[in-house]
Amino acid sequence: MVKQLGKSLAILTAVFLVLISILSLAESRNKPEPISLNSLAQKITAGEVSTVTVDYNTLRVVLNDGQKLVASKEVDANFVSLMRDYGVPAESLQAVGLEVKDNTTKEIVLNALATIILPLLLLAGLMMFLTRRAAGGANQAFSFGRANIHLFTNFKDRISFKDVAGAKEAKQELEEVVDFLKNPKKFLDLGAKIPRGVLLMGPPGSGKTLLARAVAGEAGVPFFHISASEFVEMFVGVGASRTRDAFQTAKKASPSILFIDEIDAVGRERGAGLGGGHDEREQTLNQILVEMDGFDRDTNVIVLAATNRPDILDPALLRPGRFDRRIVLDLPDMSEREDILRLHSKGKPIGPDVDFKKVSVRTPGFSGADLANVMNESAILAARHNAKVISQQNIYDSIEKVLLGPERRSKIISDKEKNITAFHEAGHALVSVGVKNSDPVHKISIISRGRAGGYTLKLPTEDQRLKTKDQFLADLAVLMAGFVSEKETFGDVSTGASSDLKNASEIARKLVTRFGMSDKLGPITFGDTEELVFLGREISAEKNYSEKVAAIIDDEVRGFIARAERAAQKIIKGNGKALAKIAEALLKEETIEQDEFYRLVKPFGLKPITV
Ligand code: ADP
Ligand code: MG
Ligand code: ZN
Repeated sequence: MVKQLGKSLAILTAVFLVLISILSLAESRNKPEPISLNSLAQKITAGEVSTVTVDYNTLRVVLNDGQKLVASKEVDANFVSLMRDYGVPAESLQAVGLEVKDNTTKEIVLNALATIILPLLLLAGLMMFLTRRAAGGANQAFSFGRANIHLFTNFKDRISFKDVAGAKEAKQELEEVVDFLKNPKKFLDLGAKIPRGVLLMGPPGSGKTLLARAVAGEAGVPFFHISASEFVEMFVGVGASRTRDAFQTAKKASPSILFIDEIDAVGRERGAGLGGGHDEREQTLNQILVEMDGFDRDTNVIVLAATNRPDILDPALLRPGRFDRRIVLDLPDMSEREDILRLHSKGKPIGPDVDFKKVSVRTPGFSGADLANVMNESAILAARHNAKVISQQNIYDSIEKVLLGPERRSKIISDKEKNITAFHEAGHALVSVGVKNSDPVHKISIISRGRAGGYTLKLPTEDQRLKTKDQFLADLAVLMAGFVSEKETFGDVSTGASSDLKNASEIARKLVTRFGMSDKLGPITFGDTEELVFLGREISAEKNYSEKVAAIIDDEVRGFIARAERAAQKIIKGNGKALAKIAEALLKEETIEQDEFYRLVKPFGLKPITV
């Protein structure tokens, strides 16, 4: 409806503009020549003037020869006395046919129309246009007034649970929700309460939005979709009213689903962190709480929300009667990755050599979105090579592109830099063979990618849930190897090792403070941290230990790093020839694949040591 109003306003404005330009064009065609009051007075005195029409403050003059002139006077000046003041004799004035038009009101109205109403109309049209643009989205079939809620009615790209690979448990739980919506009576008769809020939690790209849309497709009830950031976008002070609107719209359409995406944008813990006390976000959040509390027992609206930051959500949101059902979406495991890859290969010509299992082995830690991206990139790659089908190699190349950013072959590096990078990467690769418990090398390259100068791609053979201390130490040694190799080869180190050192320090600190792997401090954790498994990172570390312990922690961290460095040093020093061989191959070929690498180091017969 809003759309239509906007459209007709736009048309109206256009018509207006055209009319005005036509009018002004017509007017300019035989526009009377303007003259000053005193030359008009002279003309009257000379008897050249036939008639004068006083039209508000305009004097339209017609001369005896038919020529038209125009002059203006002050609004409240009387024409006759004006002319007298200019010294026009009375008889000359009397010879002029004088006509006074009494159309001042019409004039004023027209003036007002032109100067006030038209710009207002234009402005309104512009606003409509802008808000419509802002509310625009791919899936939007309808846009509801102020709330910018999108209703999925576009059944053409309606998706169902079939379109979500993996995520079995999440789908099961959501199936229950769908059932609630379809047969509320079945549950109400047994005295069951209909769930109010369901919170989908998971890392970015794990398919939260996708699943929510699938629920809509399955339930066959109206599905209202709003991103929490839209509550607070553009205009300050409308978050709460938009929330009210959104809930009202959903209630009117009940049974229905209201999906609030990225709820952390407003659901951040109140009174914590930035933004101070009574800001926009907080009021919006309060309104959401109020609305959810206001649901009757049989209000058949389910609020679905998604977030990748459940750690910062206000606890009030999670209380019973609100988002008391929580569904965690994890990153896909190996077989789920295979399913997702297969799903996203639909509609793409896949070459006979493609083995999705192998691809899934190479993509631990990839989210559904990453995998979708891999398949898309490989199609682009195949097209760029003018191939008819996507090959396994296309997919492998895309994995690296998604993982590390695009190759920057064009970035010219000097021979010296190339040499340093080659020995640096050779160091990583060599040590990964030289220590026990290290993950196998998949690829080494000195072509820079994204921000990395070169890289040694080392992937675990399987998805790991648990990792041992030995494995961590092996990782540390491999991480330190680039640095050590540069130092041993050139007697100097470069900035190329900085991110290695950062990663190594982080791992070492975790070993001590989180995993209780320090012999000196024993199996104790330090710092009050709450780590969400799927986020894989620490949220907040509150110091709950003394300065003395802090010093010991630092010592232990340094100890682990030193130990790893020593191991790396031993391997690199003891296998200088192997190192040189790898570096040489890298300089020549820039990239070495797994098979070639192991063929290269085999003759040297390295005996893996423990770190
Ligand atoms: P989130 O909202 O969790 O950040 P999305 O739902 O927007 O992630 O997922 C982004 C894209 O990744 C989806 O559009 C889909 O193409 C792909 N994707 C993610 N998870 C899956 C899955 N389990 N099955 C199929 N595709 C997936
Ligand atoms: Mg999303
Ligand atoms: Zn490195």
